[in-house]
Amino acid sequence: MSFSSLPGLLSSPSHPLQPYGWDADWEAEFAPFAEQGLLPGRVARVDRGLCDVVTPFGTVRADTEFVVPRDPMKVVCTGDWVAVDPEGSNPRYVRSLLPRRTAFVRSTSSKRSEGQVLATNIDHVVICVSLAAELDLGRIERFLALAMSCSTGEALLHNAADSWESGAQPLVVLTKADLVPDAVTLSYLVQDVETTAPGVPVLAASATTGEGIDVLAAVAAGGTSVLLGQSGAGKSTLANALLGEDVMDVRATRDVDGKGRHTTTTRNLLVLPGGGVLIDTPGLRGVGLWDAGTGVGQVFAEIEELSAQCRFQDCAHIAEPGCAVLAAVESGELPVRRLDSYRKLMRENQWIIAKTDARLRTELRRDWKRKGAEGKAAMEAKRGRWG
Ligand code: GDP
Ligand code: ZN
Repeated sequence: MSFSSLPGLLSSPSHPLQPYGWDADWEAEFAPFAEQGLLPGRVARVDRGLCDVVTPFGTVRADTEFVVPRDPMKVVCTGDWVAVDPEGSNPRYVRSLLPRRTAFVRSTSSKRSEGQVLATNIDHVVICVSLAAELDLGRIERFLALAMSCSTGEALLHNAADSWESGAQPLVVLTKADLVPDAVTLSYLVQDVETTAPGVPVLAASATTGEGIDVLAAVAAGGTSVLLGQSGAGKSTLANALLGEDVMDVRATRDVDGKGRHTTTTRNLLVLPGGGVLIDTPGLRGVGLWDAGTGVGQVFAEIEELSAQCRFQDCAHIAEPGCAVLAAVESGELPVRRLDSYRKLMRENQWIIAKTDARLRTELRRDWKRKGAEGKAAMEAKRGRWG
């Protein structure tokens, strides 16, 4: 297609990138680049400095060298909207990265240092939890924290804070609902999860019976979604149900514990027939609960709120005097289970951070040494007294 036909194509009512999420706001963001004769496109895949960009004229391969900066948060990522060289340029470069609305970041370290961007411009984070096994509410809380870290992603502070509006919306999908023997039990399970995740929609679904798939498809139609969840949760099966074709390879091998095995095709950005886009990258698949990072506070908002009233600013809510959190547990206002989950998650986060952050690691070690020394001194004092 000749370059002169571009303006007409881009302003036609059904823009060829519309199925990929192109809208009036992206068009406005892109305007200065359009003036330079660049093409808009959405990144479908990235590997070793090159990426596949879906443009109005099809998918092109482009070099990301121009936008690859020192800041790893700005490395071109699946889901990004970019400005790319028009046809005829050789090699083709991605010239600019449009400001991200949301970014799913694996926080590798503490607040100050960089994370790894796994996917961008996500509207819905779908947390898949299998009903084949007993519900682990703590695990759901942790996945929620992970989902929330997408909406609050620190990357946005570095990158596009002003263009970011509401962040990604979490949704919990209880998969394999067909394995629950009756509707009453199912409704209790849904309620349990709803209590754990106030304000977060919870949906029971089954790829086997088709239950809930239409609702999920309707949600997904409203933007870009990612599926999160443990291996075997049924993500590939759900993706296939949404896609209406077997793009994901679900292999039920050694299916002794409700876990299947999957291999994913190389397409990472998938247009859904009912509208919307699904992003599925190896990075997202590998995302672990330990990546929860900044979302913890949001999932445990009531605990964070109570903490503000604790006497000590660094209160660990274990046995401190004047602890508002413990007082709330005592009065029955806060379920003990919530506090346990919170502590567990905080502890895990601290360990993960410690793993990657040398400074914090040194601090922790000093802390343990001090505690050890105190313990020893106390023991010696005791011995002195009693021995
Ligand atoms: P993933 O690892 O999260 O992508 O999970 P898969 O989609 O590979 O599914 C894991 C296993 O669960 C496979 O054996 C699937 O056949 C099975 N499974 C997925 N969805 C359903 C469902 O709705 N009902 C039932 N009974 N099994 C399902
Ligand atoms: Zn406290």
